[in-house]
Amino acid sequence: MNFNPERRRFLKAAGVALASLALAACTQGQEPVKTIPSEKYLTLPFRERDLKGQYQITEGWEYSAEEQAIHGQKIHLGIDFAVPYGTPVVAPFDGFAMSSYHAHWLMEGDRKRLYQEEPIRFSLGYFVQVYNPRVNRFIQLAHLSDIDPSIPFSKPVYDKEEDNWNPVNHTLTIEQLINHPMVAAIKRGDPLGRVGFSGLALGKEQIEYIEEAERPLVLDKPIRSWDEPHVHFEETFRNQKTGAKEGQRDPYDLYTTFENYPTPQNPAKMGPKSLWILGQDSLPLFAA
Ligand SMILES: [Zn+2]
Repeated sequence: MNFNPERRRFLKAAGVALASLALAACTQGQEPVKTIPSEKYLTLPFRERDLKGQYQITEGWEYSAEEQAIHGQKIHLGIDFAVPYGTPVVAPFDGFAMSSYHAHWLMEGDRKRLYQEEPIRFSLGYFVQVYNPRVNRFIQLAHLSDIDPSIPFSKPVYDKEEDNWNPVNHTLTIEQLINHPMVAAIKRGDPLGRVGFSGLALGKEQIEYIEEAERPLVLDKPIRSWDEPHVHFEETFRNQKTGAKEGQRDPYDLYTTFENYPTPQNPAKMGPKSLWILGQDSLPLFAA
């Protein structure tokens, strides 16, 4: 484990967050969205130079009708940023990062739901989860095609009966994760992985992970997917008793469908409780 001065500084900051955790836990009940102060702390999980400043939002808090027709879900609880396959994904703030793999078949009752006559995965794929001790919140960055070697990878567990992969160490408590060997202290702009569409495969023949592999398979030849390459960005808390995600917020404070979200191509406005640190163009700053 790495106890450099940076990490010590994080631990100190985390101590402050832990001290207020008892209070925070009480407010993380049924209506956490309303009770958490909306401090602006996020930057985009990309470097401006990698994208020449360009990106699209292809799904907002509420899924588009087009995507609802594919998987049948209405609320997304996150934002999808569409950028080219393989684009570096970087840390949007200083914090503690882990990674793992999640791949589930989309079911309807006890049968697999089909799209274009094939079953589909509807899951996070390779993801990085980052805890921010200053604001006591988590983010997940999902569907990556690779995870940076600096981020510890927790080997997922295979459910043979369901042919699903379940992640590991993503539900560590805040107290556990800060000192955990499978969690790394990171700084804003540090590399986390690359954009892809893992966890969203179309059809049964896709192989994204081999059981017991220490690191992800690098998916540099795009697999078949029902979706386009993007990063799923989800801002959340985790229940410190059950480990479940709860109290997700829309970082744009819009809680609507994609066409209403501001991007370099779309002059829409975000809500007053947005979580982004803004640039001079009133859009979220890039991480670097
Ligand atoms: Zn998404």
